[in-house]
Amino acid sequence: MFKKKITYIIAACTLGLLIYLFWGPLFPWSPIKPGFQKIPSSKANVYIQNMLSSDSIVYLIDQILEDEQVFHQLNYVDRVTIIIVDPKTNMKRFAPWLKGSGYSVSLSLLNLIYIGPTARNSPFGISTYLKHELSHMLMDQNTGFRKALTMHEQGWFLEGLAQYYSGHYFYSRAEFIEICKSNQIRFNSLREQNPLEMSFPNLKLNYTYYQLFVEYLVNQHGLQLLQEYMKLYINEPDNYQELFSVVYGLDLNTILDSFKTSLKL
Ligand SMILES: [Zn+2]
Repeated sequence: MFKKKITYIIAACTLGLLIYLFWGPLFPWSPIKPGFQKIPSSKANVYIQNMLSSDSIVYLIDQILEDEQVFHQLNYVDRVTIIIVDPKTNMKRFAPWLKGSGYSVSLSLLNLIYIGPTARNSPFGISTYLKHELSHMLMDQNTGFRKALTMHEQGWFLEGLAQYYSGHYFYSRAEFIEICKSNQIRFNSLREQNPLEMSFPNLKLNYTYYQLFVEYLVNQHGLQLLQEYMKLYINEPDNYQELFSVVYGLDLNTILDSFKTSLKL
């Protein structure tokens, strides 16, 4: 009787593992990936489901990774796995905790990126989403686990930089200013909320705000200072204010005030 029970438990666990491996969150580690096409790359593992002609950017993945390294002045430490999900489905199967969110996500601890159906159906195509997540991955791979968590909680620099670099904008500068004015939205701080906890309209506005600030930094003070700040920031995200003053010679709030003035909100 006891032996029978053990056999049932082992059979149930094996079945569960197989389902998780071929159909669930363990899919990236499954040795076979039915329905997915593997894209040749010397630097990443890329799998795409139901590829369309608009997704042909995936063949340039090695160049995309190279460009990320040049812009961020950092190198990828580990090989990245990128799973690009069917445009007609959702990501629940792979990442149930995202509750079916269809955008894209970088799971840096696992060196894993999912590009979801919303990203694939977006007028920007998958290119900007790939660049955004690869920016997070690169910065996360070049710091420690706790520091990466701090960076994701702060959001303003990490998301602003990823949005700026990817060239993806939820709102143009003019649209952003108009929405803020007509809804009387005031932004007091760059890091008042964890971007991961925001509801979507709010997140889009915040991401645009962060992105416009990074764009302002580059336009006013140059890309080189931004790259210098990035290198220091990933090693000491808790010290972001002091580091900012060291690199820019001005305090963050002073530059932030000039940026806000430039938006004429
Ligand atoms: Zn992001």
